[in-house]
Amino acid sequence: MAEQLVAILKNQGADFTFAITTATIPTIQPREILVCLEVTGFCGTDLSLARGHLGSCNTILGHEGIGRIVAVGAMCEAKAAVVGQRVGIGWIRDACGACPNCMSAGAGETRCTTQVFSGRDVAGTLARYAVVPERYLVPLPEEGPSELLAPIMCAGVTAYKALKVANVTPGSWIGVSGAAGGVGSLAVQYAKAMGYRTVAIDGGGPQRRAICLEAGADVYLDYEEAEPDLRTNLLRATGGDLCAAVLVCAGAAAAYEDALPCLAYFGVLVAVGIPPPTSKVSFHPLTLIDYGIRFVGSITGDRIDVLEAVQFVIRGLVKPRTVLIDLIDLNHYAGQVDQLDGKLVVRLGDVSQR
Ligand SMILES: [Zn+2]
Ligand SMILES: [Zn+2]
Repeated sequence: MAEQLVAILKNQGADFTFAITTATIPTIQPREILVCLEVTGFCGTDLSLARGHLGSCNTILGHEGIGRIVAVGAMCEAKAAVVGQRVGIGWIRDACGACPNCMSAGAGETRCTTQVFSGRDVAGTLARYAVVPERYLVPLPEEGPSELLAPIMCAGVTAYKALKVANVTPGSWIGVSGAAGGVGSLAVQYAKAMGYRTVAIDGGGPQRRAICLEAGADVYLDYEEAEPDLRTNLLRATGGDLCAAVLVCAGAAAAYEDALPCLAYFGVLVAVGIPPPTSKVSFHPLTLIDYGIRFVGSITGDRIDVLEAVQFVIRGLVKPRTVLIDLIDLNHYAGQVDQLDGKLVVRLGDVSQR
């Protein structure tokens, strides 16, 4: 039986590890498609799953895969369901298309009531082969290096979608909290490409500042050195403006609390970063009432968002920083994805050699 190289999660929890081993190539049902993956990103969510912070998961993690179709189920009819078609695999692996959320306007499928997540509910992309349902195929254009498109399948589209959800006038100031992180640094790049002026908020030394400025931030604010306070420093740096929206990409309650006073009248706080389950964000509602502030949560994007986000990379407007490794070296890097100098991208093999 044909075999493939996979990374199997062992000892989910603080002492997790990956066994890089061979496994049988999965077979497909009549309405399924087999994809041979070239690369996959490994993101903070994968690390949280491996550590057991997000409950039980599949033994094959991964949700930022780029590859090509190698087999098509007998009953597939989609135009893109052809051998050789380039496809992407993100966090959402299936949505029903029929529940009220799926049928609602505006990215309803990201809240499908029976959605399936990659690496949690089904085998993820840390394998040479993956199976996708025909109804949730994400065909990609031929342009753009796979290494740069992989991070867009989760981190990139999450950043892009958060900016769409904020829905503020181009030219406005947008704050990105956690701006040096995987999602944050891409949010800074997308914000710049979409015509916003960007305030990057982060902390932890000059390297974080350098990442944000390289990503295109107009202003960098270090929350650890925010004397007298972040709002005053923001007003000083922008010549008197506050932010029309702040995307909180950092997974800390304090980041949410710090973001609120940075918002202008009618400002929007977009929640993206996930603090630990026991965390509570504290604020007085009067700020919301006085300023007309709105809170909105944003998750990953739907398939149209992915295709739009990918175009920014193809056009050279967004260029993710990546650290490219081979699957065999995953254990060395997996535990430190948040400290790397770019998004971790794992090479799964050359598709042309399949
Ligand atoms: Zn649905
Ligand atoms: Zn992710």
